[in-house]
Amino acid sequence: MQWRKTLIAAAVTLGLLVPAHAMAKTDVLFGGASIVGVYYQVALQISNLMNKQMGDQYNYIGRPTGGSVFNINAMSQKSFEFGVAQSDRNYQAYEGLEDWKGKPVKNLRSVFSMHPETVLLVTRKDTGIKKVEDIKGKRINIGNPGSGQRFNAEEVLRIYGIDQNKDIRAESLQQHEASRALVDRKIDAFFYTVGNPSAAIEEPAQSVDIAIVPLDHPDIRKLAEEKPYYVFTTIPAGTYKGVDYDVPTYAVTATVITHEEVPNDVVYDMVKTVFDNLDDLKSSHAAFRNLDPKSMLEGLSAPFHPGAAKYYKEKGWQ
Ligand code: GLU
Repeated sequence: MQWRKTLIAAAVTLGLLVPAHAMAKTDVLFGGASIVGVYYQVALQISNLMNKQMGDQYNYIGRPTGGSVFNINAMSQKSFEFGVAQSDRNYQAYEGLEDWKGKPVKNLRSVFSMHPETVLLVTRKDTGIKKVEDIKGKRINIGNPGSGQRFNAEEVLRIYGIDQNKDIRAESLQQHEASRALVDRKIDAFFYTVGNPSAAIEEPAQSVDIAIVPLDHPDIRKLAEEKPYYVFTTIPAGTYKGVDYDVPTYAVTATVITHEEVPNDVVYDMVKTVFDNLDDLKSSHAAFRNLDPKSMLEGLSAPFHPGAAKYYKEKGWQ
């Protein structure tokens, strides 16, 4: 039996007999946002896809987080491999503007765009808030500091001439707390920038009569024309229970981001798996229904990660 021993020894040396479970899998952390939003679904659904298709190599973990700002900062700290962030916040971070004034996040890299996200002002019908000006004197959630929506809320308030320190009682709740607080009458309205439909609005709409306030100030339309990361749009009637009218507002795009030091093959494998199984991803959440490769390569501010660029070149998309 000497030959068998030799064979086994050779196989072990060549790494052929290492049992699958003994081979270390690469852990990949993917940051979403509040559990009632759509970012968390992006993180979870892509993680599910990766664990299903490449679970022998990767262990993807989708995490709830504070939102866009948190995720961008997690990239600059290299604490997550992937995250989701609004296109406007992405631009500001890479260029060193607003929250990142004087400290641009130059290691930020783009992977692809996902769904559009509308800027929403959601209230209960019984508050009597029909237009933005009506929020004066009311308790309004403008978003937690780690969120993307907080900047949009502040921008809308500025455009409508509302002082967040004097004219309203501004709250900084995370979205799952805000959705609950609206139902419990602890707040009168919340701002949220999110893909539709979102559980953050569907859930309150099941227990109270909600309304969505139009954001159609001429300066918002102007902003949407000027800024590459904004578009003016409408939320179609019937998207949410009780909201049977079109709501004009503006929108950004949810983008998947990474950082410079994530290995090329980690990003390449994720991008290839997503595009090779795009129909699976599209059917995993209603907000992903209209994803298509062309628009998924648009609306990004930071340079593509080389692992993503490699796949796009192979496909002739770049
Ligand atoms: N746009 C929000 C943010 O940047 C998150 C929306 C969501 O979770 O879907 O924080």
